[in-house]
Amino acid sequence: MDASERKDAERIAENVASVRERMERAAIASGRDPSSVRLVAVTKTVPAPLVAAAVAAGVTMVGENYIQEAKAKIEALSGLPVSWHFIGHLQTNKARFAARLFDAVHTLDSFRLALELSKRLEAENRDMTVLIEVNTGGEATKSGVAPEAAADLAAAVAALPRLHLSGLMTMPPFCENPEDARPHFACLRRLAEKIAARRIENLRMDELSMGMSHDFEAAIKEGATLIRVGTDIFGSRA
Ligand SMILES: *Cc1c(COP(=O)(O)O)cnc(C)c1O
Repeated sequence: MDASERKDAERIAENVASVRERMERAAIASGRDPSSVRLVAVTKTVPAPLVAAAVAAGVTMVGENYIQEAKAKIEALSGLPVSWHFIGHLQTNKARFAARLFDAVHTLDSFRLALELSKRLEAENRDMTVLIEVNTGGEATKSGVAPEAAADLAAAVAALPRLHLSGLMTMPPFCENPEDARPHFACLRRLAEKIAARRIENLRMDELSMGMSHDFEAAIKEGATLIRVGTDIFGSRA
């Protein structure tokens, strides 16, 4: 590490600490156990040495959006005690790379993709945690299944080997005031409760992946268990 990288590493450690404080405050304010909310550090565009700095500052889960970019970093940082979470849009023809590289995929949005992942995981002799992405805002520009379609997809995914369905993920419409995003977060929570009530085998609805730099406090108040934070840890992306 040169001097400027050392400075970046210090800044990242401070940012991680401050995000953790905000997480804890939001959890306590909503009567939740702070340990029920975990941080996924989002590292798209962030070079490997700075990802390593975040890990040194206590980050244990890392989120990446693009297979190609992630592959190089995962290889460069192999041996670090972190799990790798895919949070971008996953094309079916990239499923084999995801199956090889990642521990979890937050953005499962079709049965076709689930089937392909399951098949590729079988070939790799690996297992994977998956979350179903729900397009709570019904935005044409965003991926994810419609809320009405989530339960059926969940039941179908639960029947596939190698995939462990553990919850739902959403990226709501951008709201200037994060409080305005709360109905979308609440929608995801209620949907998870409804699916869990079906008591399907090999299906848990323990995780709600929701909330980013701008709105994670609001997401925590609505039950987020995994928040995905990039900018507030690494700074704004070019
Ligand atoms: C980039 C990204 C994030 C992190 O966003 P920030 O605003 O930088 O915290 C979270 N989730 C997804 C799906 C993303 O693509």
